[in-house]
Amino acid sequence: MVVVCACAVVSATVPSFDVPPPPQQAGMHLYDTRTRQPEQIRPGTPGLLRMYACGPTVYRDAHVGNLRSFLLRDLISRVGEVLHHWRVEVVQNITDVGHLQDDTLDEGEDKMLAAARQEGRSPLEIARTYEAAFHRDLAALNVTPAGTYPRASECIPIMLQLIGTLLEQAHAYVGEESSVFFDARSFPTYGALSGNRVEELRPGHGASAQSTAAGKRFHADWALWKAAGTSRTLVYNSPWGPGFPGWHVECSAMSLHYLGEHIDIHTGGIDLRFPHHEDERAQSDSAVGHEVVRHWVHGEHLLFDGRKMAKSTGNVVLLPDLVEAGYDPLALRLFFLQGRYRQQLNLTWDALAAADRTLTRWRSRMAEWAEWPSQPMAPGYLERMISALDDDLDTPAALITLRELERTAEAAPGAKFETFAYVDRLLGLDLARDVGRPAAPVTLPPGAEDLLRQRAAARAAKDFATSDRIRGALADLGVTVTDTPDGQQPNLRR
Ligand SMILES: [Zn+2]
Repeated sequence: MVVVCACAVVSATVPSFDVPPPPQQAGMHLYDTRTRQPEQIRPGTPGLLRMYACGPTVYRDAHVGNLRSFLLRDLISRVGEVLHHWRVEVVQNITDVGHLQDDTLDEGEDKMLAAARQEGRSPLEIARTYEAAFHRDLAALNVTPAGTYPRASECIPIMLQLIGTLLEQAHAYVGEESSVFFDARSFPTYGALSGNRVEELRPGHGASAQSTAAGKRFHADWALWKAAGTSRTLVYNSPWGPGFPGWHVECSAMSLHYLGEHIDIHTGGIDLRFPHHEDERAQSDSAVGHEVVRHWVHGEHLLFDGRKMAKSTGNVVLLPDLVEAGYDPLALRLFFLQGRYRQQLNLTWDALAAADRTLTRWRSRMAEWAEWPSQPMAPGYLERMISALDDDLDTPAALITLRELERTAEAAPGAKFETFAYVDRLLGLDLARDVGRPAAPVTLPPGAEDLLRQRAAARAAKDFATSDRIRGALADLGVTVTDTPDGQQPNLRR
């Protein structure tokens, strides 16, 4: 006999009523940087969305502006999983070698080595310290963990393999001092993401005329492999001599290796569009002979007090700073959601305080509404919120609707509770955190266990039509089912 909880409210993210499927004519749309318009997202493999998200270079703490771009891939995952019932496979890299201090010129000292010198620790200690901090920040922000977090330093062989392929195809060449460069002019659509054209790039974009990269044939070419020179740390052997990989080739190698030649979505902050993603696209597409990434999705900058958040100007806020000031980390998440991901947002302490108050108020409302009998979700409001999120993640519109639902006298408290709980699976704000109803164990009605087993088998076989039919049969028995990463979660309708 399966023992389940009598009420749905013990979990912030498990509504007790079946969720209506999203309207058929809709579908998830995201603004594609390459095509410069919103595109409908249709996973290349039905039911499986493959997404690569550029991750942190772990030489220091990620500031909250960085965290905003990591939230983007979480929102896409949640909409894909909750609204479209896709399995979402996310790979996010950890860069712990090869990212040089000057991003644009692709020159200077490795950021890891510079940080190691400043802190008097080894690059490995630095990398693991800030990698752990990155995971802590993401957890505090309720960002669903990626399935895989490959570390660049542990993927050197696949990078060497990719560079070897590009050399064989004459997309790359070996310069002096055993560095290997990508030949930008060998990739005809270079510039499709950023609008930059190879022939119009001037020295200073992507590489300088005075570049120290000896043997580079053209100023827009970039290093796939850099000769170590006199450096002895973070140096690896290669067929071309000791050195280290270029930052751009790392993401090509890791995305192709972990997700294959067809990736549905590639995310990152807007500053990665050029040269990082432009170069990555040239490398990946050249190596396999076709477009690897279907949709490039970029998140905008975060300003703080009206200025760009940047370590160089000292205008930086970390998540622990907000917690120390007494704010819930999820107030920052709510603040982020109040702007659309591809709009610049200006974080201020006042705005954060307002978001924190809203979060507290919604949680106490949820605790009140949970005392009322459960009701089906408020349909008009729910559909508007689903449409907004499907429409290029229009989170501000979804939040406006949520506020309307909070205030309206038309919806019963039980319906408000269920709707907020369901939408929170998409927003990730832990809105039912203060709902303290104790769980009362009950048993499922006869026949329900069999149906749950059949439904699990149907889902494993990706037979979603049968799975939905069984969901209906379970509903007839008064049992609702929510699909969670841990499997199906049955609940008794109150
Ligand atoms: Zn990357």
